[in-house]
Amino acid sequence: METNNKIINGKFYAETLLKEIYPLSIEYNKKYKRKPSLAVILLGSDPASQIYVKNKIRTAQNNNIESIEILLSSETSQRILLDKITELNNNSKIDGILVQLPLPKHISEQLVIQTINPDKDVDGFHPNNFGKLFMGKPNFIPCTPMGCFYMLKKEIKELSGKNAVIIGRSNIVGKPMASLLLSANCTVTIAHSKTKNLIDKCKKADILIAAIGKPEMVNEEYIKKNAIVIDVGINRIETNSTETTNKKSKLVGDVNYNKVIDIVEKITPVPGGVGPMTIACLIHNTLKAAFLNKKEGFINIIEGIS
Ligand code: NAP
Repeated sequence: METNNKIINGKFYAETLLKEIYPLSIEYNKKYKRKPSLAVILLGSDPASQIYVKNKIRTAQNNNIESIEILLSSETSQRILLDKITELNNNSKIDGILVQLPLPKHISEQLVIQTINPDKDVDGFHPNNFGKLFMGKPNFIPCTPMGCFYMLKKEIKELSGKNAVIIGRSNIVGKPMASLLLSANCTVTIAHSKTKNLIDKCKKADILIAAIGKPEMVNEEYIKKNAIVIDVGINRIETNSTETTNKKSKLVGDVNYNKVIDIVEKITPVPGGVGPMTIACLIHNTLKAAFLNKKEGFINIIEGIS
């Protein structure tokens, strides 16, 4: 198979999803005389977080969503942040609330997540939403695993019975990803830093999800012939002077793309794979929150998941 045919094009899928939901945003606007709205809170000036927030706001605006950016200093107290969230919870014109993570060390991420109204929790991190997902009755699904799952459903006719291995057990990627794959009747293994014989386990995977945060850790030794690989990792690494671009750094995934491309059936590239889908799913969740705010249901974009 040609290398290009092996690429799972996240940019294309993100555009497809956004095109599908855009008319609903317009419909909402007409019916309720206002745009769906998203409040994004960013503390401090971490450059990566600033870029993520900028991309989220821009995509929201391009999709008829009113976005409110709330920039606070990294010294903001936990009390002030929680009060701000409560104010947004009580504002009926705000549909979705997102607090960009990570937060400064003096603030409890868990407390912040728990303070967001679960019906405005577009990141899907609130314990209510997390619990509902694991009970097979999801309300808001975390955007990154939702995006990965959306692409898998489009790429693979039958997920049922497939061996899926997820490397990484974080609350924002690994665990919810496992729940989604389980709901699709995959046999799921969650691996982590203490997993023994990781390569042997990965080598049995029909579907391998890498959510580790270790640049290009997964190489050809981990991959079963014709596996489908979803590379969630976003790692910025320094480049040396022999590389063709003038840039001093570049983005790579957790998978060594060049070493595995001949073995895999399909793979998401970095950049251009999971990243764009994550933002598209945020827009989806914001629209869902807007309709929920008006006590209306929302379309089910992923078959088999309510
Ligand atoms: P995280 O919270 O740091 O979790 C990393 C997971 O990888 C942990 O469960 C850890 O195990 C495991 N791990 C670390 N080293 C390992 C090793 N050598 N062998 C096996 N497992 C290992 O990270 P995250 O938030 O889930 O993010 C993972 C990656 O995805 C990062 O690169 C992040 O930037 C990226 N990401 C991308 C998007 C996107 O939109 N594309 C969104 C979110 C995250 P322990 O639990 O034992 O420590």
